[in-house]
Parts: sequence; structure tokens; C-alpha cells
Amino acid sequence: MADLTCPHCRSRLLPFELPEAAGWSAPFHLACFNDDCSYYRRAWEWMKGRYGVWAAYRFRLDPASGTASPLPVWSPDALKDRILDAEVEVHSGTGSEMAGGLR
Ligand SMILES: [Zn+2]
Repeated sequence: MADLTCPHCRSRLLPFELPEAAGWSAPFHLACFNDDCSYYRRAWEWMKGRYGVWAAYRFRLDPASGTASPLPVWSPDALKDRILDAEVEVHSGTGSEMAGGLR
């Protein structure tokens, strides 16, 4: 079982459904939806200062490959309606799957 916590704030990463046709093979990814996450809070300031746009990134992890990448969000509530209410189990080598039910 991989460590499914955010390296920036130690919050548990939550599975969320990917937008259709986003170019990913996996049906879901994991992301840190903690609004106090240092990565996320820095992203707001960085995007505002550099591009003058009101947008940010959250920490995102592809459970199939274990690759981390920034997840663009346009508001604090963006993508929160896509959070999946399920447990995610990551099996090394065999990808990932979701197990039904709550912990
Ligand atoms: Zn975080």
C-alpha cells in the first residue's frame, strides 16, 4: 500500500473523477483537497503574481503510475463535486482500483 498522503500538508489524498476526454487512461486520480495546503496556497500567489490570473494548482497523484503533477483549479471549490466517496487501494505493479464503502 502506497503512502496516500500529500507530501506538502500530510492530508489524505482523495480520489476524484477525471473530466471526460482529459487524455488520461485512468478513470480517477488522487488529489489533495486541503484548502490550507502549502502547495495549493503558494500556487494562488504564484499564478496571480506571474500571470495575473486567479487560478491555482492542487497536488495530484496518478495512482496507476505513482506520478505527481499539478492539478489546475479555477476556484477553491473546483473539482470538489467530483470527489469520489470510496476507498482507493494501490497495488504496486498492478495499478490501482477502488474498493467500495467507507473506512
Ligand atoms: Zn496538501
